[in-house]
Amino acid sequence: MRNVSVFGFFLLGLVLFFGLSLAQLDGVGTPRIAAHDQGFTRVVLDAPTKPKFSVSIRGKTFEMLISPAKAVAGNADSDTPELASWQLENLGNGVKLTLRTTFDLSSVQGWKAFTLDPTGDQPNRIVIDLGAKLGVVAANQPVASVVKPTTSKPKTPSKPKLTVVLDAGHGGIDPGMSKYVTEKIVTLSLALKVRAILENNGVNVVMTRTGDYAWQGKSCDKRCDLDARANMGSSDRNAFVSIHVNSADARAQGISTYLFGQSADAETLAQAERENGGGSTGKALTRAARNLAQDLINDQLAQLNVKFSKKLANLVQSNLLSTTGAVNQGVRQAEFWVIKKPRIPSILIETGFGTHPVEGKNLGTNWYQQKIALGIARGVLSFLGN
Ligand SMILES: [Zn+2]
Repeated sequence: MRNVSVFGFFLLGLVLFFGLSLAQLDGVGTPRIAAHDQGFTRVVLDAPTKPKFSVSIRGKTFEMLISPAKAVAGNADSDTPELASWQLENLGNGVKLTLRTTFDLSSVQGWKAFTLDPTGDQPNRIVIDLGAKLGVVAANQPVASVVKPTTSKPKTPSKPKLTVVLDAGHGGIDPGMSKYVTEKIVTLSLALKVRAILENNGVNVVMTRTGDYAWQGKSCDKRCDLDARANMGSSDRNAFVSIHVNSADARAQGISTYLFGQSADAETLAQAERENGGGSTGKALTRAARNLAQDLINDQLAQLNVKFSKKLANLVQSNLLSTTGAVNQGVRQAEFWVIKKPRIPSILIETGFGTHPVEGKNLGTNWYQQKIALGIARGVLSFLGN
């Protein structure tokens, strides 16, 4: 095995050396898990263009090596009858998926693994079915070869629990926008509501603030404040969600969700400048972030995070629209400093316009905030595979 991983590093080096595109070193998505009524659990992974994988089984442990590939590492409990937990790790130039089952995989024909070709907007997928009586309902698909198990004892994955960072925008001396509502009050109220829902669903939540304060003050400027928040999105966590309220003229309304990148139009750029502190500070930070976005185009891991941030943004935005019925301002990219160079999937949500006479007033009410919080939480949970 050791030779394989050393060779893997060598291959990765070659790939990087020749500057092959991300498409050729593609990302493996977070597992999607569903209990099937025919008595098995199906695990689906979005996979690289031509995934190569091998499987090894040992007792209640199923291991799959996929290469060449990268993934956003993570792990979580599962509550289906067949699956207890999953873990995704980067290993050399590949990805290792570990599934802990509730039954002995080796005593019966308890698993199937196969690939699905792209269809519609679905990419290549690797499908793993787990079930004690799976032989009876076997899918008519090629099955991967079983690799001889190694003699070393499998290490037990640590108690898997996903962690989400919630950033209530602004605070303390920085009120954010102010018209029918004050942004810093709404963002904190929303973040606390989202936290309650996520924690009820077994997700760890880290808050950038839980009261009316911020880092920004005499010894910490806007950039320092935003950096402190961004730094909480460390690579051992699973998602970063920054919550804000929008402002414009009285006609503008609706919800938009952003991932980091270069904004496509002047209106979005102005939005980034405002959230980056406004005035000359906002302009300077936005310009720096725009340069960073340009640099990140050649950073494969950053691009992988952009890809997963987009998936998170799409799920949050669609859930927000269905819980609130608000106008769809779309999923966009912009130079928000707080989500610059993300190490984990990171988004910024403009939950509505505090300057709109109806939406603005709604944003100050408990019932509308509850709808928004539910939409954000559902999107995040869906992304995490809950
Ligand atoms: Zn804001």
